[in-house]
Amino acid sequence: MSEENIKLLRDGLKNYKIDCDDIMLDRFETYREILVDFNQHMNLTGITDQREVYIKHFLDSVAIFKHGYLTGDLSVIDVGTGAGFPGLPFKIANPDIELTLLDSLNKRINFLKEVGRGIGFDDIDYVHGRAEEIGQNKDYRQKFDIATARAVANLPVLLELCVPFVKIGGFFICLKGPNAVKELEEAQNAIKILGVKLVELIEVDLPDEELKHTVLIFKKEKNTPIKYPRKAGKPSKNPL
Ligand code: SAM
Repeated sequence: MSEENIKLLRDGLKNYKIDCDDIMLDRFETYREILVDFNQHMNLTGITDQREVYIKHFLDSVAIFKHGYLTGDLSVIDVGTGAGFPGLPFKIANPDIELTLLDSLNKRINFLKEVGRGIGFDDIDYVHGRAEEIGQNKDYRQKFDIATARAVANLPVLLELCVPFVKIGGFFICLKGPNAVKELEEAQNAIKILGVKLVELIEVDLPDEELKHTVLIFKKEKNTPIKYPRKAGKPSKNPL
């Protein structure tokens, strides 16, 4: 384990106002080791170098902590979590989070269970399914303080997949690349129909990264109409 990379991770976490200790740093490193191990026989990520994983997966996921939306006891669902981003880094940075990880690929869910065990979390809810179906399940619909997603779909589609999970007054925290403003323009209809309001657009600084990442914070103000999310595949075929 490189001291330089550990320092990079520790300084990055501090910069995002995360109180980090050795347990937290160990959890991140164990997560990386399991990721790299499973990645040899599963398609989880193109990024395996320690420094790159720390920056592009871990620090990118938790940069939003600086803005105060993720402190305290919160229920959070990560929609299309893949190899666990951003949900698992959220939980490592704040173990009080009650975390649900949702993905439509069961192999990825099994990988996530290994990581959860490996880093000592026994209270994560792992859900194999499509957001379109789980979003209509009464145990999950409008039950979360926060829904989040990174790299799952364009914003109009993503809003339909994620907003149904959020309680009124809760937030959808959407991690986007440099095209966030353009996607926002295209999402105006979805924003209106789904009863959310953009409350912040935050540009995130990452060590070594030239591209700006953007985090969009939506607040849910109204109940989601019952017809949303529509049946699997519909949101992407015919976006709002
Ligand atoms: N969020 C992770 C990240 O940032 O590294 C993974 C991104 S990966 C490109 C997209 C993930 O979303 C895949 O694991 C895929 O199985 C999942 N996914 C796509 N559509 C979905 C849906 N409708 N319901 C649940 N999961 C979905």
